[in-house]
Amino acid sequence: MLVEQQPSSPDSSPRHECGVCGLFQHQDAAKLTYFGLYALQHRGQESAGIVCSNGEKVTIHKDMGLVPEVFTEEILAKLTGHLAIGHVRYSTTGASTITNAQPLLVTHKGTTLAVAHNGNLVNSIALRAGLEEQGSIFQTTMDSEVVLHLLARAAHKGLETALSETFTALRGAYSLLLMTQDSMIAVRDPDGFRPLCLGKMKNGNGGGWVVASETCALDLIGAEYVRDIAPGEILIFRREGLKSLFPWPEQDSHFCIFEQVYFARPDSEIFGINVYQARKRMGEILAREAKIDADFVMPFPDSGNYAALGYSQASGIPLEMGVIRNHYVGRTFIQPTQSMRDFNVKVKLNPVRSFLQDKRLIIVEDSIIRGTTGKSRVRALREAGAREVHMVVSCPPTRHACYYGIDFPSCNQLIASEKSIAEIAEYLGLDSLHYLSLEGLVEATGKERRQFCLACFDGNYPVAPDLSFHKNSLG
Ligand code: SF4
Repeated sequence: MLVEQQPSSPDSSPRHECGVCGLFQHQDAAKLTYFGLYALQHRGQESAGIVCSNGEKVTIHKDMGLVPEVFTEEILAKLTGHLAIGHVRYSTTGASTITNAQPLLVTHKGTTLAVAHNGNLVNSIALRAGLEEQGSIFQTTMDSEVVLHLLARAAHKGLETALSETFTALRGAYSLLLMTQDSMIAVRDPDGFRPLCLGKMKNGNGGGWVVASETCALDLIGAEYVRDIAPGEILIFRREGLKSLFPWPEQDSHFCIFEQVYFARPDSEIFGINVYQARKRMGEILAREAKIDADFVMPFPDSGNYAALGYSQASGIPLEMGVIRNHYVGRTFIQPTQSMRDFNVKVKLNPVRSFLQDKRLIIVEDSIIRGTTGKSRVRALREAGAREVHMVVSCPPTRHACYYGIDFPSCNQLIASEKSIAEIAEYLGLDSLHYLSLEGLVEATGKERRQFCLACFDGNYPVAPDLSFHKNSLG
């Protein structure tokens, strides 16, 4: 019997972005990159790819799907060499097709060049138009391809000059890896929006260097964390050694605070901050700010888990797991009949009915984006018998679009840009709704406000977006 499968309905959470991982001077570079990507799967589930080199021959494999779906033992056995870079993708610019899967690979005058990019360029449309006018032909709709064209055009000036000229022409967010036949290059934009860390394989594990979006990838492959690639740093890995370039004037960083709230894995250290502890502190500060009386605190696993733990410990209100997550729900499933209301929510999370009966609950969420999923979740708790349902959110209201690589919906789909907090509470069917203050969020990180991008909360964009483009693409 043929059954048409449909994607699950859009979640109220923001979508993940991309992850990169690369190995230099390790005999199993591609295999370790594979495991690195495995650890970074939460950053992108649409496509995965690895390109590797033995110093002369370059081999690539990429496809749509999750890392273990894209790579088999046989495929990995063909990816030989001491140098590899890989990518997991969630599309923020460009369509979700195999053409747009990364790494992107081109050959220019005998030199092979590959790129794996996390982030979003805000001036790629203007750069691309200029390049096309001068005769460049693009293969994809991705902003990352602009990087390869600019590099190829400046290649005759030598690698270091070409890199400096190319990256100082780009604006926006990029933590990326480049690869030639015999070198790897890690680049982080001067604002440092997205994370990128440097690790070293222990000698017992074969030696060599690793660069990855998050430290959880280093942990899995047995690499030691060395340091973050600094904002505004171009780090070149060659057989002769490592060389750092800093072609930008010094400026403040603007780390994406949403990495701490939602995107990064809690076992990663991001921007020098342990994500698990930061999320717990967000919950502690929420308890201080919200002061709600209830029978227990509960997360919707897994997103609110750590803030819920912090809220419970700081308030003295017990933490309970009032909904159970089905861990085996795939990305797509057969849609039920119209009469099965809230199916998409219930298939993933089911309330423990007898436990919730007549209870006053505090639900901890990491963010509210559209509000559609939250509404279904609250309704499910009410139907399970909850007497009061309060919600606390471990970040401020998300009122503004992101132009730096996080796939929020357009402003008019962000519930907090259209409604007041009281109106959101009413829409979701809550007894009360409390958001963490911006000051509280920054306090939870232990860093200073000026070090972060907070644009989706306060509308202050560190790098001016090209709104003519975003009006068309983001609505
Ligand atoms: S706008 Fe928000 S999501 Fe985008 S980079 Fe800034 S903090 Fe992160």
